[in-house]
Amino acid sequence: MLTILYNQHKKQGLGIILISHDLTLIAEFCDDISVMLGGQFIEKGSKKDIFSNPKHPYTKLLINSKPNFSKELLEMKEIINNEHSPCPYYNYCKNSLKICKIRIRSYSNNGRFLKCNRGFENA
Ligand code: SF4
Repeated sequence: MLTILYNQHKKQGLGIILISHDLTLIAEFCDDISVMLGGQFIEKGSKKDIFSNPKHPYTKLLINSKPNFSKELLEMKEIINNEHSPCPYYNYCKNSLKICKIRIRSYSNNGRFLKCNRGFENA
């Protein structure tokens, strides 16, 4: 089914939005990637940038997840139950800052977007 959609996309120049946790699928079919967590966009960029140089710790977790997602899905459930910070990753983050309990900064640079107080250099 996806192959049919992809071929139509190429033939007619149609845009497709693919929503999935399957990174193999994403890597095969997508040019640009937006990563969401807890209803928020936390990182955006080209496929090359996101896969070769992920910045947000949740994006790194997704990319480093093995095909057996059972453990990672349990961890994600904890992440989504966060109630103590505007950052949906706060309870799981190993590099959180004091400011992360109060607000999250967003950064844009060269077509990339990152929502993390650590920024592009220190994420
Ligand atoms: S550093 Fe702060 S904003 Fe970035 S993922 Fe960790 S808790 Fe969230």
